[in-house]
Amino acid sequence: MQEELIKKATQYLANTYNRFPIVITKGEGCWLWDVNGRRYLDFLSGIAVCSLGHAHVNVVEGLTAQAKKLFHVSNLFYMEPQIKAAQMLVEHSFGGKVFFCNSGAEANEAAIKLARRYSWVKHGEGRNEIIAMDNSFHGRTILTLAATGQRKFSEGFEPAAPGFCHVPFNDISAVKKAITDKTCAVMLELIQAEGGVHVADKGYVKALRELTREKDVLLILDEVQTGIGRTGTFFAYEHFGIEPDIMSLAKALGNGFPVGAMVATDEAMSAFVPGAHASTFGGNPLAASSVIATLNTLIDDGVLKNCVDVGKYLQKGLLALKKKFPFIVDVRGMGLIWGIELSIDADAVAKEFLREGVILNCTKGTTLRLVPPLIIRKEDIDIFLEMAGRIFERKKG
Ligand SMILES: *Cc1c(COP(=O)(O)O)cnc(C)c1O
Repeated sequence: MQEELIKKATQYLANTYNRFPIVITKGEGCWLWDVNGRRYLDFLSGIAVCSLGHAHVNVVEGLTAQAKKLFHVSNLFYMEPQIKAAQMLVEHSFGGKVFFCNSGAEANEAAIKLARRYSWVKHGEGRNEIIAMDNSFHGRTILTLAATGQRKFSEGFEPAAPGFCHVPFNDISAVKKAITDKTCAVMLELIQAEGGVHVADKGYVKALRELTREKDVLLILDEVQTGIGRTGTFFAYEHFGIEPDIMSLAKALGNGFPVGAMVATDEAMSAFVPGAHASTFGGNPLAASSVIATLNTLIDDGVLKNCVDVGKYLQKGLLALKKKFPFIVDVRGMGLIWGIELSIDADAVAKEFLREGVILNCTKGTTLRLVPPLIIRKEDIDIFLEMAGRIFERKKG
C-alpha cells in the first residue's frame, strides 16, 4: 500500500521535495504512525510546527468548537477569536499590534512592507534598503528569497527583488559598514535554523539594537522558527535582553493549523493604514482559535519549563556523544532546537535514524536538526540518545 501511494504521489504532486519514503497517517503526542502501522518518535515536529505534539486535546477541542460556529468571514468584519489571539500575542511580547497572515514567508513579506512604508511615511522616498544576513532563511516568495542569504534557493528565479544587501552573521562591524542613509531596516534570525542552527551572540544582538536605534533603522526579527516557546522562552529575543520593532511568526503559532503573524510596536504599525496591506484568510476564526488554544496551553501547562529542563538534558547527552565521536564537529542550540554538525554525510545519518524509528532531518547537508515537540519527556530523549549512540558507533567502524 505504501509503495502504491508513493507511486501515485510521484505522478500527481509537483516534485519539489526529496521526501522520506513513508506515508504518515496518524500522530499522537511525540509519536507518528505510517500507513503500515509502524510507529516513529518525532524529532522534527513537522519542521518545528507541532510544538505541543500531535492531536493535542486543547487544540483539537478549540478548533472543533470554532468549526461548528464559524470558519471564515472576512477582514471586512471584526471577529472575536482574532481580537483575542492578537491580544494574547501583544500581552506576551514587546508588540503593540498584530497583522495576521498564513505562513512564515507572508509574515516576513508583511514585515518588509511595514519597514519600507514606515520609513516612507517618516523620512520620504528612497530610504528602503534592508540589510539581511548571509546564510539566513526567510521564505520562498520572490521578495523573501531576496532577503534570504543563501543563493541556492533563488537559482533560476532571477531577477531577484531589489533592495537587499547581505553581511556576515554575528559581525557588528559589517553591519556598521553596510548601513547608509538608504537603509530602513536590519533583518535577522536569532538562531539561523535552516542555515544549520547557528545562534547569535548576545553582545552582537545588543550592539545591533543600539546601532539600529542610533540610525533610526527598524530591527526585524524573523522568529518564524524560534518563536512560540521553541527556545524555552515565549520568544527567542527574551534571551538576548533586547526588543525588536517588528517580529514575524508562523510555524508553531497554530500547532499545525496554517497561520502566521507579524507583530510590531504601535509606532511602527502606524504606517499600516486601511488598504495598505491585506490577506483574505489572515487570522480567520478557525486560524485564530488554533492560536488561542496553542498559546493558552503554552502558558498554562508548564510547556516552557519542560522545554528548558528537557532541553538541558538533551544538551548534556549531545555533548557526551560529541566527546565520544570525533566526526561530531559541533553541537549548537538552545531550548529544544539543536544542531549536530557532522564531518560525514548527515543526510545518510538522518535516513538511518528513520530506519530505526526516529524522524529528524538535516539542514545544510552537514547538520542534523533536532526540533522535537516541547512536551517531550526525558524517557523519549533517552530513546533518541541510545539510538544515536548505536548509529554513530556503526559510522565509526
Ligand atoms: C520556515 C521559515 C520561514 C518560511 O516559512 P513558510 O511558512 O514556509 O513560508 C521563514 N523564516 C524562517 C526562520 C523559517 O524557519
